[in-house]
Amino acid sequence: MKSRFAPSPTGYLHIGSVRTALFAWIWVKKQKGAFILRIEDTDQQRSTQQSVDAILEGMAWLGLDYDAGPYYQTQRFERYQAVIQQLLDADKAYYCACSPERLQTLREGLIAKGEKSKYDGHCAHKNLTTGAVRFRTPTRGNMDFMDLVKGKISVNNKELDDLIIARSNGLPTYNLTVVIDDHDMGIDCVIRGDDHINNTPRQINLYHALGWNLPEFAHLPMILGSDGTRLSKRHSAVNVMAYRDAGFLPEALLNYLVRLGWSHGDQELFSIDEMIALFELKDVNKAPASFNPDKLLWINQEHIKQSNIDNLRSNLAWHLQKMQIKITPTPDINAVIKHLQERCKTLSEMASGVKMFYQDFAEFDPQLAKKHFKNKAPLISLQKKLTHLNHWQADKIKLIIKEVCTELNIGFGKVGQPLRLTLSGDGNAGAIDEVATLVGKTKTLNRLNKAINFQRF
Ligand code: GLU
Ligand code: ZN
Repeated sequence: MKSRFAPSPTGYLHIGSVRTALFAWIWVKKQKGAFILRIEDTDQQRSTQQSVDAILEGMAWLGLDYDAGPYYQTQRFERYQAVIQQLLDADKAYYCACSPERLQTLREGLIAKGEKSKYDGHCAHKNLTTGAVRFRTPTRGNMDFMDLVKGKISVNNKELDDLIIARSNGLPTYNLTVVIDDHDMGIDCVIRGDDHINNTPRQINLYHALGWNLPEFAHLPMILGSDGTRLSKRHSAVNVMAYRDAGFLPEALLNYLVRLGWSHGDQELFSIDEMIALFELKDVNKAPASFNPDKLLWINQEHIKQSNIDNLRSNLAWHLQKMQIKITPTPDINAVIKHLQERCKTLSEMASGVKMFYQDFAEFDPQLAKKHFKNKAPLISLQKKLTHLNHWQADKIKLIIKEVCTELNIGFGKVGQPLRLTLSGDGNAGAIDEVATLVGKTKTLNRLNKAINFQRF
């Protein structure tokens, strides 16, 4: 079994395209088939190398690996040319020399009469030898096919144009190249967005004309924003890399995307292996799915909680580097991650949380310092006791905090909060005994010193 992802490199990798790629990828993995990446770059005006790179980078980040490719359509022009010639020779295609003006007048006339815009076959029997090339679409009968998602689709051939398969400059068009490639590459299941469903009958006619076996087709519903219009920048980031930058785990993003248009009971959280085991094309919804950023955030947090430390560490590395946080052997980064794991919704949040364990901060948050450093007695007492603590362990540190509380006759928060600010600079930190343990004795005492000497101006 073979399927493919066939993006056009005309921008960043769109989150909706990733969902399409993911469904095809899962379907292939499930059947232990082969997944092919094909770059549909025939539109040389709009295709860029930068966009190709963005596609490859996105696929790599998400772990959507492929067994063959990337193939580039621009490297296959000779093959397309040969097929166009073959269709011309068999009189299954013909040249059309209609000017854009003529076609526009034709279109406007039909629309004015309330009819569907359609080429009128003006050049169909002229035996021209130059111009655009049109495919002779059968004029009778129905074009039926069974879509694996949408069910039976039926189109009357009368409704279909003699479609252009090569422009007058010789360049082949999408509907032709996609058929040739899917055939040549042995694709037996075409999975793509339902914005292409109107193209499928035209493509099937081409398969028939060329005497080729049909693949199966599965057309996936669109992704909409919260207001019911097609997902766009107005709703949420649509560039997949923006989700890496914002601190999402790739498997969390994939988990979120797999639920857009597919469900398995009311289960929300899936590992990649579970997706592969449970996914069925027949369970994909016909109706569009709607994108919910809050839910994505929740799924990310759940994946962070469940992830093993090695996986978090390797995904966190990018964020640490971007924030220029250098990790040293102590404290152990694994212990720091474990400490932060329960409280972070994103990896960028985690990277910010990591910082205080390795870097000194310039200043205390002035508002918080005003509040928590008004009375220095708890800090002074802590400093005295911690200086003499030899076994720098969480339980010992907690005991000392409690001693300070008893000594000064104040609640835990009255010591814990100043210490939290002392160690973090911004009060943003978890369980204070764990924090102090990880910060280490030297840095803790240094920061206590700094806090005790803090002056309000
Ligand atoms: N290049 C087309 C697109 O990005 C591919 C459509 C298809 O999968 O056939 O929409
Ligand atoms: Zn014509």
